[in-house]
Amino acid sequence: MRNTLIMDAGLVDFIEKLPLSKQIVTHIELLRKGVYMLHFLRTADFLPGQVVAISTDLSVPPRLYSICSGEQDEKLSVLFNLKSDGLLTPKLAQLSQGDPVWISTPFGAFLGDDQPAWWIAAGTGIAPFRSMMRSGMANGKTVIHGGRSADSFYFQNEFLSTFGENYIRCCSGEHAEGLYHGRLTQWMQEQDRLSKDQTYYLCGSAEMVVEVRDILIEKEIPIDKIMSEIYF
Ligand SMILES: Cc1cc2nc3c(=O)[nH]c(=O)nc-3n(C[C@H](O)[C@H](O)[C@H](O)COP(=O)(O)OP(=O)(O)OC[C@H]3O[C@@H](n4cnc5c(N)ncnc54)[C@H](O)[C@@H]3O)c2cc1C
Repeated sequence: MRNTLIMDAGLVDFIEKLPLSKQIVTHIELLRKGVYMLHFLRTADFLPGQVVAISTDLSVPPRLYSICSGEQDEKLSVLFNLKSDGLLTPKLAQLSQGDPVWISTPFGAFLGDDQPAWWIAAGTGIAPFRSMMRSGMANGKTVIHGGRSADSFYFQNEFLSTFGENYIRCCSGEHAEGLYHGRLTQWMQEQDRLSKDQTYYLCGSAEMVVEVRDILIEKEIPIDKIMSEIYF
């Protein structure tokens, strides 16, 4: 499995030393309770799947966020989950239009391409796949998104109109029309024929990534066909 970033002392040090530049928030949206989308003007090019480090002021160590906008979009956007006891996200959630934030240039190796692939995400882990979709990489993709409640499927209208039946929403906490009732890992277990030629991109919590990786290995997917981005 190719892990694009391993969170260790070296990476923490790397993130803390990244040069940050001041940007102005253009807009902040509450997508559902505790989940926000933050927008800035896009001042740098990036590759779909990359992340930026963000901080609200230089006293708080920056945290990483996947870019969820497309490479040609005017705004650069990130999607984040509020951790009420976290250091940074309570401050991000307080931002409003015109506030300054500190942001790095985009980096990272969890990169999309034009080849057929599976994009598998839990929660806010859908962010890099939205960026890839909006950057013209949707062809030949199957998208699996897991969430607890029916309002966890951020951007579902965009994904539905782009992928149709190749967009599967797995909802563990409630029944709703059009949603598979159960965990994403359960849905993956039920799939009999997974292509060994395609790449499987996994993005989200360590728990989800490790569970899905094990299921894929059990189903004889070569390890070098599994790419992951873990949100620590
Ligand atoms: C490559 C990458 C991409 C990411 N992309 C995204 C993204 O697109 N969207 C997103 O929402 N998040 C993303 N993350 C996660 C993000 O970087 C932050 O970790 C997250 O937003 C929490 O930040 P925070 O400062 O609010 O919380 P933190 O202060 O980091 O705390 C997070 C949680 O850990 C607990 N905690 C902190 N320290 C300890 C400790 N010593 N022992 C036990 N528990 C502790 C806190 O109580 C809290 O619940 C990404 C992470 C990585 C590595």
